[in-house]
Amino acid sequence: MQIEPFQHEFERVQTDLAAGPILPSVTVEEIRGYLTDRYQFQKELPLDEVVQDAERMLRTWQVQVTHPRYLGLFNPAVTLPSVIAETLVAMYNSQLANWRTSPAGNEIERHTLGWLAARFGLPAESIATFTSGGSEANLSAVQVALSHVFPEYGERGLRGLPAAPCLYLTDEAHHGFNKIAHTTGLGRRAVRTVETDRRLKLDVDSLRRRVRRDRADGWAPFLVVGSAGTTATGVIDPLPDIAQFCREEGLWFHADAAWGGAAVLSPALKGHLAGVEHADSITCDAHKWFSVPMGCGMFFCRHRESVARAFHADVTYVSGAQSGPVFNPLTHSAQWSRRFIGLRLFLALANLGESGYAAMIEHQTRLGDALRRALAASGWQITNETPLPLVCFTRERLDPAAFLVALHRRQIAWMSEARVNGVPVVRACVTNFRTTETDIHEIVEGMNQLWQEGAGCA
Ligand SMILES: *Cc1c(COP(=O)(O)O)cnc(C)c1O
Repeated sequence: MQIEPFQHEFERVQTDLAAGPILPSVTVEEIRGYLTDRYQFQKELPLDEVVQDAERMLRTWQVQVTHPRYLGLFNPAVTLPSVIAETLVAMYNSQLANWRTSPAGNEIERHTLGWLAARFGLPAESIATFTSGGSEANLSAVQVALSHVFPEYGERGLRGLPAAPCLYLTDEAHHGFNKIAHTTGLGRRAVRTVETDRRLKLDVDSLRRRVRRDRADGWAPFLVVGSAGTTATGVIDPLPDIAQFCREEGLWFHADAAWGGAAVLSPALKGHLAGVEHADSITCDAHKWFSVPMGCGMFFCRHRESVARAFHADVTYVSGAQSGPVFNPLTHSAQWSRRFIGLRLFLALANLGESGYAAMIEHQTRLGDALRRALAASGWQITNETPLPLVCFTRERLDPAAFLVALHRRQIAWMSEARVNGVPVVRACVTNFRTTETDIHEIVEGMNQLWQEGAGCA
């Protein structure tokens, strides 16, 4: 594949995006009317024409999450190597369900995940797979933990267990766990919300009390989620204390590092993830802070046998899926047919190198600090505490929702609303390695101006 034409197109898109609006103004009627009028698929259209049209729709009808002033929900700008990887994978249409069909793809994934597992401090015998995202990885963690803690779960199901299993997390943890409790049959009531301290970190004393009470009430506690970078506020739970507690109590410790996990590549930041190396399983999304395209999560687990037990399948018709020294994803993960998910991370790591990645992550962290300082200097109150580039803020008499409407209408930046201790605030997260210090200062100036004009004043 020739890189040059690709690079040229990639740069054109970046330049166009940065000069254009961050969010669209379009109605559902407009889009549906356009598609209905134009696309009944009754006659052939020239490829060039439909590609141009699709790109025009993408450019005008979506929030541009790769815009340098999108300070949003962990959706990253993407690197050239990761985009090239996507095209390569599609062209060769690699099938990674079993090793034999794609030794190349499978070994590249194994190599990449093994390298990253070592960065997390997991032992060499741990196992890892790429997933569709953090949600599939968190779901895998719950399924594997159930199979590990309750060996009869796989054959007899939850109703075969003598007591109802329950799991522990804080209100700040990812809300996908409610959905996971529902779909696994645990039931949403099996999710126990543990109190947080003043800084929104999981309170281990509260956890201990809750586990004790549940056991006394006949429940079977089995898993604790520690977040390494919560979605709303970027808080890192006390991972070493959670690990210690789980060890004492025989509970599975799952570290949800969907966004924050990338910090292990930064010498300056990795200390904040201390304790993650004790986790039984880890979720980390490459499609967040590793800046690769959507659909690239990762699930790491130190208990290889439990993963094999949770996802075992009888696959007599898939050649070589049963035995041998190699690893078949279809008997070790939720997916069956499997896309070559990991090439985008492999190519990006190979091209940028570990220090290139660290520089990218630290750049965004510095911008987070710059944003915090600039906001504080002009009278905004910072309401969250994290070393990661995620800033929650407000000011007296601010109505965050109304302020965000004005901010978005003026196309100053894209930010979201979050709650800190029940209070609505504005949430800004640096997710783009192309965002500059100038962007940050102009955004804060723009917000100050808006506030002076009375926007979002309750
Ligand atoms: C984003 C996120 C998830 C969910 O991951 P997806 O990739 O969106 O499925 C889970 N946990 C945390 C902490 C997250 O930030």
